[in-house]
Parts: sequence; C-alpha cells; structure tokens
Amino acid sequence: MTKSRALGQVSLGSLQGAGEKTIARLNKLGIFSLQDLLLHLPIRYEDRTRLTPLGSLQPGQSALVEGEVELADVAGTTRRSLICRISDGTGFLNLRFFHFRPEQLRALSGTRRIRCFGEARLGAHGLEMVHPEYEGLNGTASPPLEPGLTPVYPTTDGLRQQSLRRLVAQALRIAGQFPDDPVEFPLKLSPVLDAMSWWHAVHSLHRPVDSRHDILERARRRLAYEELLAHHLSLGRFRQEIRRRSAPLLRTNSVLKESFSAGLPFALTAAQRRVIREIESDLCAGRPMMRLLQGDVGSGKTVIAAHAALAAATSGWQTALMAPTELLAEQHFRTFSAWLKPAGITTALLTGKLKSQARRDTLSAVAAGDAALVIGTHALFQQTVEFHRLGLIIIDEQHRFGVHQRLALRDKAHPDAVLPHQLVMTATPIPRTLAILGYADLDCSIIDELPPGRTPVVTSVIPSTRRAEIIDRIGNWIAGGRQAYWVCTLIEESEALQCEAAENTAASLAEALPGLRVRLLHGRMSASEKDLVMQEFKAGESDILVATTVIEVGVDVPNAGLMIIENPERLGLAQLHQLRGRVGRGPGEAYCILLYQSPLSATGKERLKILKESSDGFVIAEKDLQLRGPGEFLGVRQTGLARFRIADLARDADLLETVPRNAERLLECHPELVAPLLGRWVDHGLHYVGA
Ligand code: ADP
Ligand code: MG
Repeated sequence: MTKSRALGQVSLGSLQGAGEKTIARLNKLGIFSLQDLLLHLPIRYEDRTRLTPLGSLQPGQSALVEGEVELADVAGTTRRSLICRISDGTGFLNLRFFHFRPEQLRALSGTRRIRCFGEARLGAHGLEMVHPEYEGLNGTASPPLEPGLTPVYPTTDGLRQQSLRRLVAQALRIAGQFPDDPVEFPLKLSPVLDAMSWWHAVHSLHRPVDSRHDILERARRRLAYEELLAHHLSLGRFRQEIRRRSAPLLRTNSVLKESFSAGLPFALTAAQRRVIREIESDLCAGRPMMRLLQGDVGSGKTVIAAHAALAAATSGWQTALMAPTELLAEQHFRTFSAWLKPAGITTALLTGKLKSQARRDTLSAVAAGDAALVIGTHALFQQTVEFHRLGLIIIDEQHRFGVHQRLALRDKAHPDAVLPHQLVMTATPIPRTLAILGYADLDCSIIDELPPGRTPVVTSVIPSTRRAEIIDRIGNWIAGGRQAYWVCTLIEESEALQCEAAENTAASLAEALPGLRVRLLHGRMSASEKDLVMQEFKAGESDILVATTVIEVGVDVPNAGLMIIENPERLGLAQLHQLRGRVGRGPGEAYCILLYQSPLSATGKERLKILKESSDGFVIAEKDLQLRGPGEFLGVRQTGLARFRIADLARDADLLETVPRNAERLLECHPELVAPLLGRWVDHGLHYVGA
C-alpha cells in the first residue's frame, strides 16, 4: 500500500483521544484523514526549549518559566481574579486568572513548584501572565524540556492546542512507519519540489529543528507547489470530462440577427463583435462551451449575452441567465424583454420574491418550454425549477457565485442528454495569476474597449472630517441639473445595521439639503419597493439616491454623475471600482468621492490612491492582489476558487508560472501519479471535481 493512499485511509477515529466530538471539530477544520491532519500546518511556533529566569523576563516576551509558588489567592472586588505569585530567586511573577474554579485555587495553594508558558506583561503589581498554560511540579525532578519548537496550530472552538498537538504527534509517528512517498516526482519538475521530499517538508514544519524563516519557508513552498499542481490537474481533468460530452448546436439565422442588431440603440464596438464571433463559433461546435467573458464595468457584456440567448432560442433551446441580485435580475429582465420580444422570444423572470401563483405560472412556462429565456437569481437553481430543454447557461457577475452554484445549474440538464453551454461574465478582472489557476476550466474572452462617449471619472480621496463641504458640493451639483449617489458601505457584515446607516444618512442629507428629493435603496426593501425607487431615480424624479452596496452591479442611470462612497476603506478595491462604474455613463463630467473615516492606515491610504490613479480594472485588481492577498481580493467563497490549505496566491504567485506546464508533463509521463496527488490535495474537498 502506498503511503499516500494508506494515510488517506487511516481514519481519525483510530487516533488516541479522537472521540466523536473531537472528530467533528477536526472536520470543521477541513481535516478528514490522517493525511489532512499532517497538512494542517502550524501558524507559528513557541520556544519552550529553555527556561527563562524570572529576573530577565521582559514585558511582551512569551516564555517558559518555572518557580516556587509563594501565594495563591483571590483578589479584587469588582473583577475578581485568582492570583498566583511565583519566584525563582532571580525575580517573581504573578499569574492571573480571571476565570477560575474553586478547585483551581485549592490545587494551586497545595502546589510547591509550577512551570508555565505565557506572555509576560506589565500589571499593576509588576510583571504578570494572564491565563498562562501551566503544570504543577510536585515530583522531585523537573520534567524534561521540549526538544524543539512547539507548534501552534489554527484551531476551532472546543479543540485545545494541546489536544491538537498530541493528535499531530501521533499522526507523525504513524506516517513515519509507512514506506516512502509514492508521489515522489521522478522528473525534475521544479527546484522547489526537488528541494526536499514531501515527508521531509511535512515533518520539518511540525517539528522544526531550525526556526529560521528561510528554512521553514522552503518546506512550506515545497508543499504549496504540490498543492497548486494538484489543483491545476483537477481542474484540467474536470475540463477534459466536459469536453468529451456533446452539446446542442446553437445557430442564429442571419435575418434574425440583423433585425436584432437593427433594433439596438447603438452600434456594437469592435471588441463586442469579436467576442460575439468567438461565442458563436463555440456554440455550434458540438461540444459544451465553457467561456469566461471578462469586461470592465460598462463595457457592454449584456448585449453579448443577448446574442448568445438569441442563438439558443432560434435553435429551439432554452437559456437560463443567473444574476447575483434581484435588482440586477429585474433590470436584465426589462432589457432582454425589450431586445428579444421583437424576435418573438419570450423572457421570464424568476426570483425568490415572486408570489406563489405567479411563481407557479412561471415554473410551468419554463417546464413547458414556452419561456425561451429565463432570468433569475439563486432561485433559478432550486430543485423545483425544471427546464424543458436547457441549452445555454449564462452567469452574470461570476465573482458573486461559487463554482458549486455554477455547476448546480448545469445539473438542470438531463444526465444523459447533451450538456448545456456555459457563458460566465464578470466585470471583476481576474488577475492573470489567478486566472491561470482558478479558471483553468474556462476559455477566456476579453472586452478591452469601452463603448464610445464615456467620460473618465475624476476620483478624489477625502477624509470624513470634510463631510459638510461635500454635502455643499452635492447641493451645487444637483442645482446644475444632475443626480448623485451616496453609497453606505458594509457595517460589520450586518445587513440590518447597514440599512440603518443608510436610513440615517438619508435623513441627515434630507435635513442638510432641504428641497432636494432624497431617496433610499437598501437590501431590506421588497423587490417592488426597490424597483419603484430605481425607476423614479432613472426618470429623474429624485435627486439623491442613498444606497447600500446593493447597487453595486449593473444599475444604469446616465444622469447620475456623482458618487460619494462612505467608508470606502471597508471594501475591496475591485468592489469599489465596480461601484464607481455606475457613474461616467452619460455625457457631462463624472466624479467619485471616497469619503474615508480618518485616521486611515498607510496601506489603507495607498489602496485608495490606486483607485484615484487608475480606472483600469485589471491594473486595480493586480495591485489590490499585491496589497491584500487573494483571499480578501475576491473572497474565496465568492469566486469559486478553491480554498488552498497551504498555497497563498499572493506569496506564491511566482510558483504559478511553471505549474501548467508541469501539470501537462506529469499527465504525459507519469499519469499514475495523478490520482494519489489529487487524493492527497483535492478530492474530498472539492466535490465538483470530476462531477
Ligand atoms: P456591463 O459590461 O457592465 O454589463 P452593460 O452591458 O450594462 O455593461 O452596458 C453598459 C451600458 O452601455 C448600457 O447602457 C448599454 O446599453 C450600453 N452599451 C453597450 N454596448 C454599447 C455600445 N456598443 N455603444 C454604446 N453603448 C453601449
Ligand atoms: Mg453587467
């Protein structure tokens, strides 16, 4: 039995001290096998290899100390704590416990010597450690010191460091008994991999003999490279499987296409025409299209989607278009209905808020195939939705959805039937490094040209102390006949609080600017309320729209050329860029004011400056990635990018360069290594792989 498979199969339950509850907690950490446990790496290390004399202990220092117990007592009147004072001849130290049990006091009073580990800090009565780890030393000899650094693991509620350490120690012992690593690469793939074996890397990260950063980092990168390789191979395998399936042939007839184009209020840009050609050739190739369409906010992706839907409908197949918000789904519904109705194509809207009778009617129209295009939110991939003949899936603003959601929709096709085509659209540019990896299953089209007549948006970064001045400026702006957005950003991810903040802002703006029509738009309003507010704003019947980030995507009001974003420091640059894309859509000047809460950190300022200096979504995305790291950049959950255990796309971006080539070489020369490699890194975690 190979090591990888063997380790993958050793159940956690066979470890000592791993009861049902512990296993549940390990699962929460993404640990399902012994091998997973070995890949659960420490976040840092503590030095318990030597004792620090109390007299030389410094505030802020984490240290292992030992001393005689001089006193143990409960002190304080308002906030009682258990204090235990120890000394070792060089000095003394107070151990302080705010939470304690009566037995603890008794036990400490009866203890002669104690050894503890914690961070020393300056208390009211000299140095103290709050809630240190400790053990009483009542025997004659002191127990031995740790031979190496003590790892500190990421953990979860109810799973103590010490338990986790013991479990990992057992896993290391068991793993040490298996023969060599079967995923030993017989080829020279990368110096990073060649630097050491898997086992050596794992072992030295859990049991470092040398804590020098460069040595640990070499081991970590060795594992990271393997992980990236495995991930790439898994997406590649997934892609291959899809490519083997057949897909409906979707073709527009030229008469319809011309009448459709003639009905548009604008001429397509060259970039739009190019991308439409790319899609059209995919759609009639007989294999499922899997295409990612990237184009900055306002680049005109919607009309491209409409071309694809037109091809499907003309060929007798249905299209499902999924949008991330109700607001956007509704806006799309209006746009597509207007564009496609003249061609005799029926569009239906399916959102969560549909009343039950209307919902039933829509569902039966979809099931009967009467609706050729169905637009909706998440509601689209609920189980009750059945399509008559689903041939094309379009996903708008892909960054809001996960891979799982994308694939769940595809499952709406009959299992043995042909597979629907997929078009995934995003305005959030995926930095090249991420694109290599996270979207390896998709072909990519880029719209690199904005429609004519757009005004560049002038962005300024202003502290909230100048709020009054900004409010005056809005007054003048509106006196000039224009409209404005005021965006309230996320407050601690609570929608309720966010809505409240927007309500307060709307009230204070209305008070400061009497006579102006201030309206409110937030996530807690019903679809029809939101719709009404939007329609009114679009028609110029209100002046200022105070909104939460629900307006982020797709909203289109050319006369609104001024946007104030409050607390922009709370949002990712990509999201800010999207928000800003709402302005500059019509004639006349356009401004975006980032009204930050001061004081702002240096990095915070630097981030906002990027936005001020660039209007290129790709540049912004790359810089954001450098400053924040990809986890925050797109939000792992939102991108559908798999979460990596060890690889860090910002730190390891340089590794990615050779990953695709090496994945190919491995497939070609040593296909037998692929399964164990995927087993180790991706298989149970990503159920969509090979789905
Ligand atoms: P996004 O790529 O952000 O989804 P949209 O498809 O919503 O962009 O297009 C933004 C605006 O630009 C819409 O009002 C749309 O009608 C308009 N538009 C799209 N293509 C063109 C074009 N070729 N010429 C002029 N306006 C266009
Ligand atoms: Mg759009």
